Amino acid sequence: MRNGVASHDHEVALEEAFDFLNTYELEAGSWVEHLQTTDQALDWIKARDVIHAALLEAARQKLANDPVASERTLSKIHRVRDALRKVTYAVADDRPAPTSALAEVNRALRAREIIELEPAADGIRVGHRHVGDPVDDALARLAQPVVQAIASGNEDRIRICANDECRWVFYDESPTGRRRWCDMATCGNRAKAARHRAKRKAAEAGQEIEFLD
Ligand SMILES: [Zn+2]
Repeated sequence: MRNGVASHDHEVALEEAFDFLNTYELEAGSWVEHLQTTDQALDWIKARDVIHAALLEAARQKLANDPVASERTLSKIHRVRDALRKVTYAVADDRPAPTSALAEVNRALRAREIIELEPAADGIRVGHRHVGDPVDDALARLAQPVVQAIASGNEDRIRICANDECRWVFYDESPTGRRRWCDMATCGNRAKAARHRAKRKAAEAGQEIEFLD
């Protein structure tokens, strides 16, 4: 089978790549893992159209029957994300990144789809072909915008939120380039605040139930 040749691309925006990094985030002072299972991680990738849904689902099915491979895939996703995080932290702090993190990102970048020219009704178009593991492909796509941002000459715009309770990775697009928080209004951002509230509520509700017991 020829792996899906597509007439579209799956360009990942830098913001989405940073969202990926922030799937491991501080909430109320502790680090929270939002990609806890392989399924959760694949869902995250799928929701952002990082690769073809059909390829992703095929990978999911294969992994469902192979717990060891599934576990390996999840740790690979975590590993690449955490390496990208370390690299962005290093860039933001103007210090060298750990060589192990660079090696991990470089390994992820090697898995790319093949760019091909294809005939089209009005001439030629540029298509792509997926050849390797779809998860590797997705990780390469997620890593690429971060690498481009580092290469852009504006890498000083890559920031870590100054709020010690947040530490989100973000890109400062403000005209002055002096943003220190991921969200000016609240840093935190409202979604995060809402999650905090929901969590607190749930905790309180849980306590009540315990109390009734
Ligand atoms: Zn923040």
